[in-house]
Amino acid sequence: MIIILGKEVEPQGSEIRRIREFLENFPGVNIRIVEFQGETRTVREMHLIGPTHNIPEEVVKAMNGVEQVVRVSTKYRQIGRHDVNFVPVGFEYNGIKFDQEGLHVFAGPCAVDTPENVEATFKFLQSIGLQTARMGAYKPRTSPYDFQGHGRECLPWVFELAGKYGIKAIAMEVLREQHIDEIREELEKAGNPTGIILQIGTRNAQNFELLKQVGSQQEMPVLYKRGMGLTIEESLNACEYIASGGNRNIVFCLRGVKSQLGAPHRNLVDFAHVPVIHRLTRLPVCIDPSHSVGSKEHAPNGLLDIFHVAAQGVISGANMILVECHPEPESAWCDGHQSLTFQELEKFMQDVELVQDAYRRRVEAFSRGMVKDLTRE
Ligand code: PEP
Ligand code: MN
Repeated sequence: MIIILGKEVEPQGSEIRRIREFLENFPGVNIRIVEFQGETRTVREMHLIGPTHNIPEEVVKAMNGVEQVVRVSTKYRQIGRHDVNFVPVGFEYNGIKFDQEGLHVFAGPCAVDTPENVEATFKFLQSIGLQTARMGAYKPRTSPYDFQGHGRECLPWVFELAGKYGIKAIAMEVLREQHIDEIREELEKAGNPTGIILQIGTRNAQNFELLKQVGSQQEMPVLYKRGMGLTIEESLNACEYIASGGNRNIVFCLRGVKSQLGAPHRNLVDFAHVPVIHRLTRLPVCIDPSHSVGSKEHAPNGLLDIFHVAAQGVISGANMILVECHPEPESAWCDGHQSLTFQELEKFMQDVELVQDAYRRRVEAFSRGMVKDLTRE
């Protein structure tokens, strides 16, 4: 059960105390106060966990300070929408707003390789107005003989260079708890010149201990990637571990699922699930066209498959894109075959803008019930 509190209710206020006193009549029910920043106000909720079936909803609803009472199933109770008109949530990190409305492109190499390449990337991103990047220092590789990432050693210069070129957030994968500590320590040592979004890769989508670890800290948001062989239901339940640990600053990422039916793409593209995640959860949704497609093949019209699938996500309202690029893809240490050149990235950005505009026009026209308005003026 979730009790949504009125905006006048203070954390130490008498309303919460009285509700708590009432709930003491129901043994075994644990209460957790959850707070998050909505667009116009701080939203406070009481999350009741345990045997809540005997709690009379109507009585709680009538209590002072209660705005709404929602019975939720045990499934993804914190990240879920539960068919209720919750205040739309999102979060802000390092000056960047993440919600179900906006769109941010995180571009960069699969893995950090040389300082020269990292600097060239940040410099280029800045030149096209991007403040968000992707790059891995810890790489989970299919073969033990492949480059595993520089690890902690590269963090000081990556962070310094990010600061130099105004990069506000980098999506960076972590594979175990120690990596979270290393990133936190190195960020602090460098004077926090940039921000990090902790990425949970598809291979760790059900590593519940790691999910609890990224969930038990609140300094850095989490980008959770759908498991490559998991249903949406399984992935959302796993993602809930992050929120249940206390961190609700989560973005859910679609990156394709493993199936021979996806061939010749690396994975079967699942961006049709963008609106599904919007409907089922309160989370912003990311798409990863690079790992979905896995090549730089193009259609007869010249547009890369990566562009086409990204467009499929954006036309459905995706809020973030993770895309691989490299100053010299052919010499990249990881995933060069699917990395865009800078020139391609620039075109990609223009294409995304076109499609985003089309998405907005679709939504607007639909809301006015005037689909004919979609025709060009
Ligand atoms: C990545 O984004 O660097 C990555 C390894 O992706 P995934 O976990 O989706 O394979
Ligand atoms: Mn990669």
